[in-house]
Amino acid sequence: VKERGRADFRFYQRQMNLGLLTRMKLDHAMREGLREQRFHLHYQPQVDLNSATLLGVEALIRWHDPELGEVPPGQFIPIAEETGLIVAIGNWVLDSAAAQASQWRRDGYRFTTAVNVSAYQFQQADFVERVADTLQRHQLPGEALELELTETFLIRDATEALRKLDALSALKVRMAIDDFGTGYSSLSYLKRFPIHKLKIDRSFIHDVPGDEGAEGIVQAIINMAQALHLQVTAEGVETEAQRAFLSRAGCTQYQGYLFARPTAASDLAPMLPSPAQR
Ligand code: C2E
Ligand code: CA
Ligand code: CA
Ligand code: CA
Repeated sequence: VKERGRADFRFYQRQMNLGLLTRMKLDHAMREGLREQRFHLHYQPQVDLNSATLLGVEALIRWHDPELGEVPPGQFIPIAEETGLIVAIGNWVLDSAAAQASQWRRDGYRFTTAVNVSAYQFQQADFVERVADTLQRHQLPGEALELELTETFLIRDATEALRKLDALSALKVRMAIDDFGTGYSSLSYLKRFPIHKLKIDRSFIHDVPGDEGAEGIVQAIINMAQALHLQVTAEGVETEAQRAFLSRAGCTQYQGYLFARPTAASDLAPMLPSPAQR
């Protein structure tokens, strides 16, 4: 048992060192990636659940490193959040998405572009100023931009969060709560805060129809959103059965592989509304 324990410990220690090495390596590669412009954005359509009309897109970061290959955001974003590099990455995302949104605007389209914002990025003292400056530089009206925040954004200081959300609201920027249903925070903020949309986490969508618990949660979120006059988007819709369930449940928008995977802006063209509908 003693031998075994020692071997396990050595194994564990090696894992930990590997973890640290990976983190340092990724951090270094990300910094280089920012300098060398190795990040780019994909966009995933958000469509009307019944007519499949495009209502908006979500910008999702992609990173191709010459050595590491394609690194998924689920892997590098948490590390960037630990090291603080998420602020520089987040600023890059905001600026690139705003540039693209502005181009779509000039082409006559009126859909919104959503950008993911990390809690740490939102907590920066100059976050609102940064957004205002980005809108101005790209001559983008605030209502063309949606910010996706998870519920953790108000864990630290709800008063400060409210102040920022009010300021963003004054810029006409729209706010969505991402991964809704997975956070811990009090629901009372939904009524107090200027929030426009709830995005139902895809872990719940995955289990409908069929799983009574998931069905109940999804229905409850939709009902609550309706009562509070919030929009509601279902995330991760992959099947027609899920879409049909959501339609019956009163959900009006979805995002998911059933309609389209995230793609480069140039590949989005065929999915954009026709000029007559702009
Ligand atoms: P998220 O914000 O919840 O983004 C949705 C994720 O679900 C995306 O993964 C998207 O590709 C994936 N997805 C969309 N439809 C489906 C579907 O039908 N089925 C399944 N299985 N998945 C679907 P992705 O692009 O790998 O991003 C993962 C997470 O990384 C995002 O989750 C978000 O938390 C984070 N992330 C991505 N881009 C950014 C960014 O620019 N800034 C920040 N702060 N975080 C980002
Ligand atoms: Ca998101
Ligand atoms: Ca999400
Ligand atoms: Ca997420």
